[in-house]
Amino acid sequence: MKEKGLLIVLSGPSGTGKGTICKALLKKNKFNLSVSATTRNSRNGEVDGESYYFLTKDQFLEKIEKDDFLEYAEVYGNYYGTPKSNVMEKVQNGEDVILEIDIQGALKVKEAYKEGVFIFILPPSMEELKNRIRGRGSETPESLMTRFKSAYKEISFISKYNYAVINDTVENAVSKIESILIAERCRADRVEQKIYNSQEGIINEQFND
Ligand code: ADP
Ligand code: 5GP
Repeated sequence: MKEKGLLIVLSGPSGTGKGTICKALLKKNKFNLSVSATTRNSRNGEVDGESYYFLTKDQFLEKIEKDDFLEYAEVYGNYYGTPKSNVMEKVQNGEDVILEIDIQGALKVKEAYKEGVFIFILPPSMEELKNRIRGRGSETPESLMTRFKSAYKEISFISKYNYAVINDTVENAVSKIESILIAERCRADRVEQKIYNSQEGIINEQFND
C-alpha cells in the first residue's frame, strides 16, 4: 500500500488571509488545492473553475441530491461545498490536498477523517481583520458586518483544530504552515505506517540519507 498524502484543512474567519496564504503556499509547494463550489456571486478577478465553481442555487441543490460533495455548508447566506472530485483518492494515492473551508465544513471533514491536519488561521487583531475585509473591497457594509461579527463566534472553535497560525505577514504564516507540515510528516504514527508499508524501503532510505 502506498504512503498516504496529507489532507490539509485551512479555516478561519473571512478576511484573515486564507486565500492569500494558499496562493503563496502553492507557489512553493506541490499541493492539490481543492476548488470549491459556491452559490455566491463572483468577485472582481475571480475565475470560474479556478477560484470557485460558481453555481446557481438549483445547480448546487442538484449536486447535494447526487451526493457530489465531500462536505457542504451554508456560510454567510450562501452555499459552499467541496466537490468529492477524487479528494480522498488523491490522499490515498500519496498526494497532499488542501481544503480552504469554513468551520462547519472543517468539523464535518474531521468527523470523517481525523488524520487530517486542521489549521486555524487567525488575524493579528480584530481591528486588522476589519481593515482586511474592508481593504479587499468585496463586501457591502452589511455583509462586512455579518462576516466581522461571525468572526468572534468562529474563533471560539479554535480548540477543535490541531494548529493555530497568526497571519501577521504572509511570509511568516506560510513558513509556519510549512513547518507544521514537516512535523506532521515526521509524526511517529505516520512513519510507523510507512515502515509497515515498505519494510526494507524505509530502513534503506534512512541509512542512505
Ligand atoms: P480570506 O481568504 O481568509 O477571506 P483573503 O486572502 O481574501 O482572506 O485576504 C483578505 C484581504 O487581506 C486581502 O485584501 C488580502 O490581500 C489581505 N491580506 C491577506 N494576508 C495579509 C497580510 N498578512 N497582511 C496584510 N494584508 C493581508
Ligand atoms: P468567501 O465568500 O470569502 O470566498 O468564503 C466564505 C467562507 O466560505 C470562508 O470561510 C471559506 O473558507 C468558506 N468556504 C469556501 N469554500 C468552502 C467549501 O467548500 N466548504 C465550506 N464548508 N466552506 C467553504
